[in-house]
Amino acid sequence: MKQLPAEFITRTKALLGDEWDAFEQALNAGSPTSIRLNPFKNSPPNPLRGEQEAPFRELGVGPVPWASNACYLSERPSFTLDPLFHAGNYYVQEASSMALEELIRQHVTKPVRVLDLCAAPGGKSTQLSSVLPEESLLVANEVIRTRANILSENLTKWGNPHTIVTNNDPAAIGKLGAFFDVIVVDAPCSGEGMFRKDPASIAEWSVANVQLCAERQRRIVADVWPALLPGGLLIYSTCTYNREENEENIDWMCSEFGAPVIEKPRRFLPHRTKGEGFFIAAVRKPSSEAFPHHHHAHDPQSPKNKTKSVGATLAVAQSSAQSSAQSSITQLIKNPNQFRIFENKNGFTAIPTTGVAGYLLLKERLKIVSAGVHLGEMKGKDFIPSHSLAMSCALSSNAFPTLELDKTTALNYLKKEALQTISPDLPKGHLLVTYLGCPLGFVKNIGNRANNLYPQEWRIRMSLA
Ligand code: SAM
Repeated sequence: MKQLPAEFITRTKALLGDEWDAFEQALNAGSPTSIRLNPFKNSPPNPLRGEQEAPFRELGVGPVPWASNACYLSERPSFTLDPLFHAGNYYVQEASSMALEELIRQHVTKPVRVLDLCAAPGGKSTQLSSVLPEESLLVANEVIRTRANILSENLTKWGNPHTIVTNNDPAAIGKLGAFFDVIVVDAPCSGEGMFRKDPASIAEWSVANVQLCAERQRRIVADVWPALLPGGLLIYSTCTYNREENEENIDWMCSEFGAPVIEKPRRFLPHRTKGEGFFIAAVRKPSSEAFPHHHHAHDPQSPKNKTKSVGATLAVAQSSAQSSAQSSITQLIKNPNQFRIFENKNGFTAIPTTGVAGYLLLKERLKIVSAGVHLGEMKGKDFIPSHSLAMSCALSSNAFPTLELDKTTALNYLKKEALQTISPDLPKGHLLVTYLGCPLGFVKNIGNRANNLYPQEWRIRMSLA
């Protein structure tokens, strides 16, 4: 452990009292590694069940008590070298921050619109996506563009079609007006809780930075507050210990917005539970007669946009019989009647019917990075399936012939190498490649070899030697 700043020690001693020694000892111990499994990916082998093919079967050392489908590993393996990591079968997440699940389970019992405001790289979003009632809409937002792309990548791999990724600042989202039932603000903070896991954060710490973070957090909450429906829930979290960025900001929300605290703050400390430092609390926006708690007040009547929607496109394609690929686009997804298909210059996108109104409104007002399931696009008369279709839980299991790969070939595929020896029994055209039955992406079989359609920017770059 690097030397802790003297002022941090003084302040945290004051906060922890006689627990300081135990706390300091915990900081000098190693950080636990934990993963959370994707409940929607077709029965991913589960290390908790000790299954033969489970990733890290020999490393699983027990469940994370406050989260479902999550477990600790006895050491940190190379996740990059596990094809299932790239398939979105699990997410590597620090255990304490998984505490979000308990609040959601306790307070959210019917389908909701949820905003994860500060969402990159996607730990909270992938968890929300796993535990929200079915048919909820998750809007995962990240203000920094490069981070928004990483967020989109992680959520695409997670494969839940009820997801929209946006790249906006909190004020732009606030301008939507009351829209969300739940807003999660996992605020940028001074990161005291990450000192053990990420020692570089120690050097960035100062009292002045704590003050700066606390102010910024209040501004973020104030900016987004109008987007919360009356009666809605705001969940606030940080990975820092000090009171300014935590309790004092919760107190500020209560006095500024008259918002009662509905979930007493919970602080995770590394000497008490197995995980890093984390703080989480929730407040409720007061209900008001003037604003009935109802969704669709802001839905657009007739959105003006360049996207052709609905069955129209497909109907035309079908009747002209100009392309058999286009006519079978709906057959690529399970339960196609629960989706609406949109076509724009990037190709075809399926949006769950329950999320269409929200999608149309957000598309007018925000910068959308990805939404629903991008199915693919036409190139000439060829339909090129999109990687997000391969990753999606909505992909119909008989949409494409599959090609199961062994681990070495799977890793070569993820490095975007062409597959050289293809069985003559396999049909030409697009094949879904799988590892342990889990989709990794598409190839195009041209006979003696298959071209690799894995996204260039996602490929494994490290040498596999
Ligand atoms: N929720 C994420 C997860 O679980 O994976 C971690 C979020 S991280 C603690 C905070 C995020 O807030 C960062 O991605 C950062 O880019 C973003 N951020 C920084 N300044 C911001 C601002 N002024 N408004 C909104 N978000 C901001």
